Amino acid sequence: MKSFAVRIDLESDKGIVAGLPSLLKLFKKLNIRASFYLTMGGESTVFEILKNRGKMKSSAQRKLKIWSFWEKVRMVLFPRDFAKKNGKILNKILEEGHELGLHGYKHRVWTRNLESLNIGSEINKMAKKYHKLFGREARSFTSPGFNVNEEVIEELAKRNITHISDFNERKNYGGLENVPITLCGENRMPFIEYWVGEGKSDEEIIEIFRKEIKEKDFVSFYLHGLFEGRFKISLLEKMIKELQKNKFKSQRIIDFQ
Ligand SMILES: [Zn+2]
Repeated sequence: MKSFAVRIDLESDKGIVAGLPSLLKLFKKLNIRASFYLTMGGESTVFEILKNRGKMKSSAQRKLKIWSFWEKVRMVLFPRDFAKKNGKILNKILEEGHELGLHGYKHRVWTRNLESLNIGSEINKMAKKYHKLFGREARSFTSPGFNVNEEVIEELAKRNITHISDFNERKNYGGLENVPITLCGENRMPFIEYWVGEGKSDEEIIEIFRKEIKEKDFVSFYLHGLFEGRFKISLLEKMIKELQKNKFKSQRIIDFQ
């Protein structure tokens, strides 16, 4: 069977409030099940921002301008606990049959200073909050910025997490099934965002996509509520329809064995 996975990272208030509803609507319309990953600890505080100013090591910085000056000021002065604040719409992800997994506690610290974190207690914080908000255990995890190491794998495996999506190979890492992202831009940028940043039109992007999925029996790509969820719904719809036309069936990351 040919299959595909769509992974969506939710790591900001705007990405959830302004991006998630359109994504859920689209997936319902196309009858697919997607995999969402949520940053559990909300926006970084001013202290966390000052302490974690370095460049990200493992993935590229965003090229497109996503935040206005005043939004940045608001975030620094009044950081939001967006997981808690948006509990209701986030619960819809699970109610509608999608997967909802963990994507770090604070995104910034994880991408920039993973080595400084006590990884075990960081994962405990995520898992505890997930349980409190959604009344069940998280089963999957993706590393912010694909920043992962052996300790992360060990600590996740201890906590009944079964699936990750951090490595390029479709195999088991220390007891965790890894479902790779097969389609992305340079430095593992999200496929759509990367090509938009390169100045491609939707028609050109769908053409690239068509070529990429030819002869494949597994396709996966990832995106963000913040960008594609707000600006690229119709392109995403065309891509998914292209997959369905070519007999690909949607699977959540946790469905892969
Ligand atoms: Zn992320």
